[in-house]
Amino acid sequence: MARVFSGIQPSGELHIGNYLGAIQNWVRLQHEHDCVFCVVDLHAITQPFEPDALAERTRQMAVGLLAVGIDPARAILFVQSHVPEHTELNWLLTTVTPLGELERQTQFKDKAQRQESVPAGLLNYPVLQAADVLLYKATLVPVGEDQLQHLELMREIARRWNARFGDLFPEPRAQLSTAKRVLGLDGQAKMSKSLGNTIGLFESPEAIWEKLRPAATDPARKTRKDPGDPDKCNVYTIHRGFSPPDTLTHVAQQCRTAGWGCLDCKRVLADSMVATLAPMRERAAALAADPARVDRTLAEGAARAGAVAGETMREARRRMGFLPAAGG
Ligand code: ATP
Ligand code: MG
Repeated sequence: MARVFSGIQPSGELHIGNYLGAIQNWVRLQHEHDCVFCVVDLHAITQPFEPDALAERTRQMAVGLLAVGIDPARAILFVQSHVPEHTELNWLLTTVTPLGELERQTQFKDKAQRQESVPAGLLNYPVLQAADVLLYKATLVPVGEDQLQHLELMREIARRWNARFGDLFPEPRAQLSTAKRVLGLDGQAKMSKSLGNTIGLFESPEAIWEKLRPAATDPARKTRKDPGDPDKCNVYTIHRGFSPPDTLTHVAQQCRTAGWGCLDCKRVLADSMVATLAPMRERAAALAADPARVDRTLAEGAARAGAVAGETMREARRRMGFLPAAGG
């Protein structure tokens, strides 16, 4: 049984890109492995955010994960800032992380471009991510394709630390899903909470349709008569995540032969999405009505995570040669 770690930022609403790219895998992996899942609020503060909204967003993200099927009886679910070892290991790891590598990260360059003044925290984002995973000595990290570069850097950070202070951290590897990169509805950038190009996982069937209807498809289909290529169509990527195999075959054939227009295809997709998402939406509403219960679940998760993290930190401090606190 492998140890699995992954996180999601409370930086906006949980969307179908998150679900198809990562969270769906989390739900599956909790039946096979020892899983630790985290709402990474400390990462979310590297982007513009409202302090008044952070706590509620964090809880909402936890509600979303529980509604999708994360089971606290099978997996540890907790909030990053509740386990202070994440920030402590982050600091230790910054001292073995090459600055040039941080500056080369695509996500840093993209997000830095969108901010007037670039905080150092945004640059250090992948180091905190390394701390998250290494604290639990996780070997498997289910993420979307956008995180592969960070995973590579994480492996390098682990290697450098191990080489200097002795083998403590296994090198984690990424686990991708079949829909590893869902594009935003405009078909340009990847779907992202912070870009406002998303379909939320818990939106009403009407809202889903309103967003899906104008969504970008294969640009080759300029008119109704032009055939398309499903492999170049973001709507088909989403179909793959929600529609059953026989529907997929039919949809692909109708696209290639221009038998259907894109709207026909989208109507079928909307039905598939609603069939999967409606029960999750109901569960999310029920959970949101009982915030105290969600907070208790998160407190239990933090206690379990903290026990593992505390153990790793003690060993990391010892290997780096810090003077132990008297009585500690
Ligand atoms: P933000 O815009 O604030 O970075 P985000 O939508 O990118 O938010 P994250 O919290 O950064 O979401 O990432 C959570 C997980 O979802 C990660 O594993 C990430 O790789 C995955 N993910 C995010 N967007 C997509 C996407 N468009 N397609 C596939 N996977 C995605
Ligand atoms: Mg992101």
